[in-house]
Amino acid sequence: MSSASVSSSTLALTSYGWDEGWEAEFAPYAAQGLVPGRVVRVDRGQCDLATAAGTVRADTAFVTPHDPLRVVCTGDWAAVDPAGHPRYVRACLPRRTAFVRSTSSQRSEGQILAANVDRAIVAVPLSTELDLGRIERFLALAWESGAEPLVVLTKADLVPDPVGLSYLVQDVETVAPGVQVLPVSAVGGDGTDVLAAVVSGGTSVLLGTSGAGKSTLANALLGEDVMAVQDVRDTDGKGRHTTTTRNLLALPGGGVLIDTPGLRGVGLWDAGTGVGQVFAEIEELARGCRFHDCAHRTEPGCAVLAAIEEGALPERRLDSYRKLLRENQRIVAKTDARLRSEILKDWKRRSAEGRAALDAKRGGRNR
Ligand code: ZN
Repeated sequence: MSSASVSSSTLALTSYGWDEGWEAEFAPYAAQGLVPGRVVRVDRGQCDLATAAGTVRADTAFVTPHDPLRVVCTGDWAAVDPAGHPRYVRACLPRRTAFVRSTSSQRSEGQILAANVDRAIVAVPLSTELDLGRIERFLALAWESGAEPLVVLTKADLVPDPVGLSYLVQDVETVAPGVQVLPVSAVGGDGTDVLAAVVSGGTSVLLGTSGAGKSTLANALLGEDVMAVQDVRDTDGKGRHTTTTRNLLALPGGGVLIDTPGLRGVGLWDAGTGVGQVFAEIEELARGCRFHDCAHRTEPGCAVLAAIEEGALPERRLDSYRKLLRENQRIVAKTDARLRSEILKDWKRRSAEGRAALDAKRGGRNR
């Protein structure tokens, strides 16, 4: 994240996450006279980008592929025309990470939520009973994206007893191996300074169901003043509230926050690797099973079942692991079915073309 080799013309973009890596990737576009910008919002064939010269709006007609996972999304770095009405996004730099979810529609196509995210903050409210399965689901999604997850327990002020709070933290830690768990009270301010320090480098995204306290967290990190300033800076000048006009914001303490609306009903999208990381201890135990394809059900010499027997592994964890694996396999199978039907369609078209060509040839010879 060093800005040492970032040229002065793009220095203003460092607050949006620009670094020497992006600078190097961008060099061929700079040679064409294009300028870099980070997508702060996408809206029906257009997007808003943060550039060194301020926020600009650009048309995405040139970079609208058929693959829904390759369309321009919040967090992308793009090469954009320096001027013009309309100006166009000419290319997007290859993504370092990508947040994808399966759509709720019948057609099993992924939906790209955010790009180039370094950290996923999973907001978990302490106002309701902990839903460990839901936390595991969000963590799988986070790991799969390539971002590093962090669990923030919001509304910690509702658990005034420090011992009780430490038990809740421990409960979450058991389902989140290798993940930092941070209780935060946006009301009292406890933990928000730690969180601000954690997110001060790189790009973070907020995940969580509605009511998880995401907006409160975002406001605590952004501060009211900054939001007001950014309202004025918005070039469309319509004075709408920042959170509704932008999904990507530079934080006053450093770092970038992507706050995507409506992350409800998150599904997994080919998140096999992510699931494995969430249940790292089960995969670790499985290496000790006698059979390498052990299903941990009735097999002799099963290390996973032995761990449950000993009380070292909660049975709920194994159930949750199986559930997420099954869900993931279903999504993958649906995708494969779609791919197969596309391949078949393509093959039918080609063979029809081939037959037509052959018929024409024969017809030609007969004549
Ligand atoms: Zn086993």
